[in-house]
Amino acid sequence: MNKLKISFGPESFSLKDNFTISRGAKKSADLITLRISDQTYSGFGECTPNIRYGQTIDGELNKLEFMTQAFEDGNCDINRETINKLFEPSPARSAFDIALWDFELKKIKKSIWSFHNTKKPNALPTMITLDASNIEKNLSTARQFSDSTIFKIKFKGDKTDIDRLLKIRECYPKKRLLIDANESISPSKIGKYIESCERFNIEVLEQPMKTKYDELLGTIKTKTILCADESCSSLEDIKKIEKYYDAVNIKLDKAGGLTEALLMQEAAINKGIKTMSGCMLCTSLGIAASQIIASKAEYIDHDAPLFLEQDRAIKINYSRGKLNIADSMLWG
Ligand SMILES: [Mg+2]
Repeated sequence: MNKLKISFGPESFSLKDNFTISRGAKKSADLITLRISDQTYSGFGECTPNIRYGQTIDGELNKLEFMTQAFEDGNCDINRETINKLFEPSPARSAFDIALWDFELKKIKKSIWSFHNTKKPNALPTMITLDASNIEKNLSTARQFSDSTIFKIKFKGDKTDIDRLLKIRECYPKKRLLIDANESISPSKIGKYIESCERFNIEVLEQPMKTKYDELLGTIKTKTILCADESCSSLEDIKKIEKYYDAVNIKLDKAGGLTEALLMQEAAINKGIKTMSGCMLCTSLGIAASQIIASKAEYIDHDAPLFLEQDRAIKINYSRGKLNIADSMLWG
């Protein structure tokens, strides 16, 4: 029954420059690539473990060993339904799920767009991330990608945040700006930060505080859109955050794959919650698998491959604040 061959391994893609957020700086995108193949077709997936959730490359590789072994021992079909039923959401499951999507689509000779009866866009816009390092680097990145319609400014919860915001707003008075605090703002300072968001016309404030303080957000009245990221990983979490947030950042690595991410987006839209299609530090392969989510999202944060020294051989092209739609040779 299991004629499929599953192979996977770690890969590291150097970044052009360090990437800094509130939790520290990274020099490379460390991820796992997975391939599923039969005699004729091959499907690919990748995942990026996040230490914020206690995930490591070794830990996710162990999960993939366990998953493939379970299929061999259990003599059950390897398909998206079984992996999503048998295994908890994780980056490992996401790489598996994404590779299965790619494999299945290639087998039935359909694109992800025709499979979902969705018109394939010509291109998608992406916001550009200005990291939490320093203002000189932020302004240099902003100049380089000034065609992008939105900048996402990473905050780290210290006094440099508002100084950087002030200078960026001065240089770009009309640009749409979004802030991602990655849980770095303390409850005692949230009022001040919200005031600044309103003063500087910030459209979205993403994950200002730690998940445990979500309830406090329910008491805040602001025109700034509050977006959950670390507070919402799965379909179940959508119910938990709906009282406190107006939007949710959906990432395949958090959701444990595209299958669950699609369900999350549908649930969010049905509840009137705006969606963002986000990514970890990943290659064009990770972005390709998220593009169907992005096509229905209000916000798209798909800039990670721009920060790689070298992307995959078959890659998505970025130009003037937009990215093209992945060729099915890459994914889907
Ligand atoms: Mg975020």
